[in-house]
Amino acid sequence: MSNSPRVLMCEPSHFGVEYVINPWMQGQVGKASVTRAQAQWQELKSLIEELADVELIPPGPGLPDMCFTANGGMVFGSRFVPARFSVSQRALEADRHRAWFAEQGFEIVELEGAHAFEGEGDALWWPGPGSPPVVFAGYGVRSDLEAHRELAEGVGCDVVSLRLVDERFYHLDTCFLPLPNGRLMYFREAFDADSLSEIEARTRPDDRLEVDAKDALRFACNAVRISDTMIMNHASAQLRGQVEAWGYRVRTTPLDEFLKAGGAAKCLTLLLQQDGYSPEIPHSPSPIRMTTVSMTGHLLDDHALTAALEVVAGFGGSFDVEQFRAGERRDQLSTARIRISATREERLAAILQGLEAFAVEPVDAAHPVTVSEVRQAGVAPDGFYCTTIYPTEVRHRDCWLKVDSQRMDSVIVIDVESREARCVLIRDLSLGDLVVCSEEGVRVRTPDLRKAQREFSFMSSGVSSERSAEGLISEVALEMKRVRARGGKTVVVAGPVVIHTGGGPHLAELIRNGFVSALLTGNALPVHDIETSLFGTSLGVDLARGVGVNGGHQHHLRAINAVRAAGSIEAAVRSGIVTGGVMYECVEAGIPYVLAGSIRDDGPLPETLMDLVDAQSAYAEAIEDADLILMLSSMLHAIGTGNMTPAGVHMVCVDISPAVVTKLADRGSVESTGIVTDVGLFLNVLARQLLD
Ligand code: NAD
Repeated sequence: MSNSPRVLMCEPSHFGVEYVINPWMQGQVGKASVTRAQAQWQELKSLIEELADVELIPPGPGLPDMCFTANGGMVFGSRFVPARFSVSQRALEADRHRAWFAEQGFEIVELEGAHAFEGEGDALWWPGPGSPPVVFAGYGVRSDLEAHRELAEGVGCDVVSLRLVDERFYHLDTCFLPLPNGRLMYFREAFDADSLSEIEARTRPDDRLEVDAKDALRFACNAVRISDTMIMNHASAQLRGQVEAWGYRVRTTPLDEFLKAGGAAKCLTLLLQQDGYSPEIPHSPSPIRMTTVSMTGHLLDDHALTAALEVVAGFGGSFDVEQFRAGERRDQLSTARIRISATREERLAAILQGLEAFAVEPVDAAHPVTVSEVRQAGVAPDGFYCTTIYPTEVRHRDCWLKVDSQRMDSVIVIDVESREARCVLIRDLSLGDLVVCSEEGVRVRTPDLRKAQREFSFMSSGVSSERSAEGLISEVALEMKRVRARGGKTVVVAGPVVIHTGGGPHLAELIRNGFVSALLTGNALPVHDIETSLFGTSLGVDLARGVGVNGGHQHHLRAINAVRAAGSIEAAVRSGIVTGGVMYECVEAGIPYVLAGSIRDDGPLPETLMDLVDAQSAYAEAIEDADLILMLSSMLHAIGTGNMTPAGVHMVCVDISPAVVTKLADRGSVESTGIVTDVGLFLNVLARQLLD
C-alpha cells in the first residue's frame, strides 16, 4: 500500500435534488443534471488523484446524496464512527458506509444514544500547534450537541463544540476549515458569539482567515486540503492571495451542480486518516453537561413551552422534549419533561437560571418504571401507561429499553427474561404480562419540530391552497421513485371513490410498474373495480361517458356474485373472469391486499375480513416497515391506518374534504401531507409524472 493520503469518494450516478433538507435545495427539486454532476465529479476526482489515493464506495439507488461521502461518518485510525442522520431521507447511507468500512477491516464504533451525528460534515479534525489535537464539531442545525459528548467518550478525544446559527451553513464543513499549524479558515456569521470566542481563544489573529460572504456562499470553506494543496469550487482573487500567502497552492474546479444540493469539494470526500491522530493522544473529560427538568402549566395556550425552549436555544443549549402531556380540558395543566444540554457547566447554569421564570423542576431521570401484572386476559391493570406514535424508551433495572412495535393507543409490556419492551394492544394482553403503569421512567422522543418541518417542508403544505396540487404531486412522485429505487415500501390505502372518479386505470398502472407494495382497502373498491372490468361501469355509471346505464344499479351485485362463484378475487382473475383493473394487477403482480369489512358492505366479497380485529391485525402487518403511505379518498381506512402508524413514516392524504386531511395532519406527526383535490385527477397526474 502506498503512503499517500487516502480519500473516500462515491460516484454521483444516482445524484439529484429529490427533496428539500437544506435551504440550497429550495426550488431545485428535479433540476440537477446527473451528466453535468458526473463530469464535475470526475474533474474533482482527477485533481485529488494527483495527491492522494481515491477509494470508491458504490452508490445506492434512491440515495441521491450518497456522493457526499463526508457525511457518512468519521475515521479515527483503524476505527470508523458511522453517522446517524438527522434526516430520514439519508438514513440508509449510514448503513452502506458501516458495511463498507467493516468490509475494509475498520473497527466500527457506534455512538451511544440516539442523537444525530452527520460525520465529517459536522466534525473536523484539527492537528493543532503543539497542543493536543481536537475535533471541531458543529451543532444547532443537523448534529446534536449530545452526540459531541458521545463522540469524545466513544473515541477518546477532545471535542470543541461550535454552534451553527445560519441554516445555509447547515454543516460545519460548509463554513469552517481547520488547517495544520494552528490555522483555520471560517465564515464568522455562521457561528454564535460564544463559538466565535471559542475559535478566537484557540488561535492567534494571524492564524485565522475570515472568508467573506461572497466566497463563503460559493463554498470556499468547503475545500479539500491535501498536503499543501487546497481544492475548492471557487476562490476570489483576494481569498486566493491570502491562502497562497500561507503557502498553499489553490486549485479550483466548478462544482455548481452539487451546490444545488448544498455541497461542494469537502462534502464529496471523506478522509480515510486524520493527520497526526493516535489513540494515545491525551484528552480531557467532555465538558458537555446535561440535565432533565419538568415544566407544568398552560404550556401551549400561554406559549410557555416555546418561550422556555427559546431561552435554552438563546444560551446556546440544545434540548429534547422527552415527554409532553397536554391537559385534556382547558382548565387542566399540561406537563413537559425536557432534557437540556450545554457546552459546559456555566452555560447550563445560565440556562437553568434563565428558566427560573418558568418554574421548571429538576427531574430524577433514572427513576424506574412501575409495572403491574395482568390479572385478566385482555384487560390492562389500573393506571396503565398509554402509548403515542413516537419512539419510546422505558427505564427498567438501571437500563433504558427501547419499546418495539411502536404505535399509539396501546400499552407497554416488559419481558423481564429477554429484557425487551413492546407495544401491545389491550385486547392482546395475556395473564401475567407485566404492563408499564407509570409516567416516571418513560421517555418519549417527540420530534424536534423545527428539524422535522425542515425535513418535510417541501411537502408539509397541510391543506393550503396556495401551492398548486400539481407541484405537490410531482414531489410525491419523486419520493415514490426513490422508495422504489432503493427497494422500499409504498403502501396505498384507498376507497371506492378512486374507481368512481376514473382513477382506477392510473392506480392499476402504478401497481403494474412496481410503485405499490401493498393495497389496504375495504369491500367497495374491489367491488366497483371488478364491476368496471365486467360491465364498464362503477356503481352503474358508464365511466367512459359519465352517464348512468339502464339496469346499472345491479352491476355491482352481479360483480360480487361472479367473484363469490369463482371463490376469490384471485380465482376470478386466474379463470379469466376479471381481465383488468386494480385487483387484476394486484393478483398478476403478487401485491398483497387486505380488504377490511364494514357495516355498509354488500356481499361481501369472499376475501373481505368481516372480523374487525382480524382486519386491524392484517392492516398493521401490511404497514410494517413502510416508508410511504398514500391515503386516497377513504376517511374510514385512512384514519384507521393513521392510528396504527408510528412516527417517521411519511403519510400523504388525498381527499376532496379539507376536514379529512386536517384530521390526519392533526395526529401530531409532522410527516403527514394533506392534498385537497379530486382523487381521480391526483392519480392521473401522479401516473403521468411517474410513467411518462
Ligand atoms: P368514507 O366516507 O370513509 O371516505 C370517503 C372519502 O372520500 C371522504 O373523505 C370524501 O371526502 C372523499 N371523497 C369524495 N369524493 C372525492 C373525490 N372526488 N376525490 C377525493 N376524495 C373524495 O367512505 P369509504 O372509505 O368510501 O367507505 C367506507 C366503508 O364502506 C369502506 O369499508 C367501504 O368498503 C364500505 N363501502 C361498501 C360499499 C359496498 O359494499 N357496496 C359501498 C360503499 C362503501
